[in-house]
Amino acid sequence: MNLLPTPYPDELIYSVIARAGVHWGISSPKQLLDEIYEDRNVSSRLYFPNHITLISNKYPKVLGLDQETLIYKHTLFPLYAPFLLEHTRQQCLMWLCGSSKGAVHLATGHAASRLSPLIYLRYCPTCLFKQLKRYGEYYWQRIWQITGVDSCLEHGLLTNSIIKTQNPRKHQFVEACPRYCIHCSQTKPTQQSLLIAKQAQILLNMRSMVSPSFSQWTSFYYLLAQSAGAVRKNRIQHEEVKDRVIAFWSLPWLNSLGLDINSSDTNWLRCIFRKHRRAFSYLQHIIVMATLLPLDWRIDKTIDAVKKQKTTLDTHSNTTLFVRSAKLVSSYRVRWLRAVKALGIENARHSGFGDCYAWLYRNDNAWLRATNIEFRSTVTSVNQRVNWKSRDKKTVRTLIRLKNCHEATLDAPRWSANWYISSLKRSVTIEKNLEKLPLTQMFLARFSESIDEYQIRRLSREIIAIGSENKNLIYRSVLLRRAGLSEERLKPLTRKFLCQIMEIRCRD
Ligand SMILES: [Zn+2]
Repeated sequence: MNLLPTPYPDELIYSVIARAGVHWGISSPKQLLDEIYEDRNVSSRLYFPNHITLISNKYPKVLGLDQETLIYKHTLFPLYAPFLLEHTRQQCLMWLCGSSKGAVHLATGHAASRLSPLIYLRYCPTCLFKQLKRYGEYYWQRIWQITGVDSCLEHGLLTNSIIKTQNPRKHQFVEACPRYCIHCSQTKPTQQSLLIAKQAQILLNMRSMVSPSFSQWTSFYYLLAQSAGAVRKNRIQHEEVKDRVIAFWSLPWLNSLGLDINSSDTNWLRCIFRKHRRAFSYLQHIIVMATLLPLDWRIDKTIDAVKKQKTTLDTHSNTTLFVRSAKLVSSYRVRWLRAVKALGIENARHSGFGDCYAWLYRNDNAWLRATNIEFRSTVTSVNQRVNWKSRDKKTVRTLIRLKNCHEATLDAPRWSANWYISSLKRSVTIEKNLEKLPLTQMFLARFSESIDEYQIRRLSREIIAIGSENKNLIYRSVLLRRAGLSEERLKPLTRKFLCQIMEIRCRD
């Protein structure tokens, strides 16, 4: 019997199987399945592989590669596990050890997730080079295959390989190699990506442990809002939280991940601050926590604190999580006051005090707002000088250019009014003075993409992609999954479009 290669640090099981094929000189996917699973119908699952018990039994006991170690060190399950109910987590572990037939994808919320799925397996060129030097071969790492993590913490932006995450040949395991992972230079990562990567890395390194309950998450988020000054008269100020999340991460970035925050009463951000009835994704948790917790927060410590939560709201039990040093707060306040007195708000932000502003924005928001209002009122007369008519014309010209530039990109985020405005240079001024900009208003009313239109665009994108893969059959469920949509979220117009498409495909 051939020995299965030992997994490298952070290597996906998928990658271990692919390497086994290379080591043993087996190029036929079915023969590889025969060799490893003695079953030719096993699918090559990238995120949540099955039959972990069988894989674990192939290693000598001395390596310590038991089922739980393989699942927590070599699959993406730990990214989801702490946010699932405990009995769901246990059920998923059982499925992963045996056969789940896709049930883990459903139970973790991965299948119906609103997060934009990755189309291609990704890699960090510099890490690959280091792997080759150290181990003599390449392998796929977990941290590269996570929506929201677009960069390596050490080297820069990740690169798409030419291997699709949804491989049309579902029994094939494809190895990382120079043919699929072309060496290229890396650009600097975005701040958002680094923040997500840091916390995702911590999640991936967490050990198997009991998950918090939904009521503990509910209590935690109420206290989080309270500690961030976003609760008044016992009510969470959802609009204020929304403004802060958008200011911290930016709308285009949130939209690009499928996490747009619309004005509906049931948008995901409002729901996470209400009674939890379902699990939220790692990315939703990280986005909210990073916005409202102090700068040095860590997701593992935060999950520990959530688990200590009593289900009735007890503010005293949690204070340690939110403690901010009074001395630190005071030093930032003094620094900002000096700067703002001498330079005014905008100048201070752009003249070496941006870090101070950002810190206060996140940790002492109520004070910062009150202080800034005081200073803003003294300089309002300056605004008289803006020529709104000319500003209006210029803005519309920029918007038209933006539209022309993006309209052929089918996988762009939703072209909502917010997206258009936030792509402009002076987005906040434009948004606040829309009533003085009639042409801009007309443009936004005419060209902003509705949710129906956006859903139809996503479906069209996938129909074209499926066409280019030479597939004649399209299943409704597959099409929806590829487009990142679910039956429940379909708008009436999208539903009609989808029905017509399915009808046409059947007639063909
Ligand atoms: Zn790297």
